[in-house]
Amino acid sequence: MTLDHVIKRIAIFGSTGSIGIQALQVIASNPDKFAVEVLTANTNDQLLVQQALKFNPNIVVIGDETKYESVKKALASTDIKVFSGEKSLEEVAGMDCYDLMLAAIVGFAGLKPTLSAINNGKAIALANKETLVVAGDIVMKMAVDKRVPIIPVDSEHSAIFQCLVGETRNRIEKVILTASGGPFLGRKTNYLVNVKREHALQHPNWRMGAKISVDSATLMNKGLEMIEAKFLFNLQPDQIQVVVHPQSIIHSLVQFEDGSIKAQMGLPDMKLPIQYALAFPKRIQSDFPRYDFRKVNTLTFEDPDLRTFKNLALAIDALNKGGNLPCVMNAANEIAVYAFLRNRIGFLEITDVIEKTMEKVPFIETPTLEEYFDSDGEARNYAADIIKL
Ligand code: NAD
Ligand code: MG
Repeated sequence: MTLDHVIKRIAIFGSTGSIGIQALQVIASNPDKFAVEVLTANTNDQLLVQQALKFNPNIVVIGDETKYESVKKALASTDIKVFSGEKSLEEVAGMDCYDLMLAAIVGFAGLKPTLSAINNGKAIALANKETLVVAGDIVMKMAVDKRVPIIPVDSEHSAIFQCLVGETRNRIEKVILTASGGPFLGRKTNYLVNVKREHALQHPNWRMGAKISVDSATLMNKGLEMIEAKFLFNLQPDQIQVVVHPQSIIHSLVQFEDGSIKAQMGLPDMKLPIQYALAFPKRIQSDFPRYDFRKVNTLTFEDPDLRTFKNLALAIDALNKGGNLPCVMNAANEIAVYAFLRNRIGFLEITDVIEKTMEKVPFIETPTLEEYFDSDGEARNYAADIIKL
């Protein structure tokens, strides 16, 4: 049997989110290449059940235990196994019934199931960037030890990964991460002080989950991605540059020692990097719309405005200092972003919460996994205190 005829068994952790839904569209278009073995959701039981009835996985997990009975009942006529609770996510990730995990849970919650999958020797298609921001050194070391490939789904990192195919012996001089600039590109603090949830959720080029949409509006997303790039590609902080490219056609670039730069391009559509990661090392045919040079014929580039978008400056600081600082920053950011989404704090206060938390939580140079978890917890408590949650 050739590799072409093996059906890859996919576990989608976070199947009801923006990435999860698009991954299922990719899988539905390629039934001869992929089968769905595991689907998980946090609270959206209705969509999870709908997906399960359509894709007939072996297992579903609903995070919210109060929804277990309703999911179980809705799937009673099938032989799909139903689990619930946080612990089940880790346990199912440790099972043998799948080949590749699409890690598409948002935030710190994605870390433990992904660690469990790596420990279990399963390939990872990684959308959940927070996993690497929180504990990138430990995650990547475990992946090397277990010989587990981590294939990025984040469009910038997929671009870099694609540029690096065939370049294993060549040193990277630097990577250039492109940023759309988000919905508030060109705006200054006097404008940002008044922005509300609805504005921040309107991204010009991408439709994404709420948390990453706010991160894109504050530019924290690009900061998280710099840290993600450091661990994925084993880079020093000064090898990672961000350039604002509002058209989102060039998804990122790699510059080599001879000065040559490779870029990966295409229309902004997450289905492309999702499909690339699921099918790697093969490319598969798609009918996604193609980029037409005549339609978008001007590509522009500018520096990010670090004075206005201070979250990116804070993330660069965390990238440079390392240790538990990215983990602390991530935790404070999660608390602050959800508070902003619930209209508890203003847009600019997100930065204050992160900055104060980063100053407060004690620095640890080389944390153990347990210390990362503790730092996360401590940062969350402190950030929640500042907001008076
Ligand atoms: P989303 O909010 O749309 O979906 C998140 C998914 O995670 C849902 O299925 C939800 O049920 C699940 N989930 C949330 N909290 C959970 C918890 N505590 N326990 C278990 N499951 C939980 O998010 P998204 O936009 O799909 O993003 C997912 C991840 O992919 C994020 O880390 C994001 O940064 C990354 N990413 C997303 C995009 C995009 O275009 N959406 C692009 C690049 C990277
Ligand atoms: Mg991205």
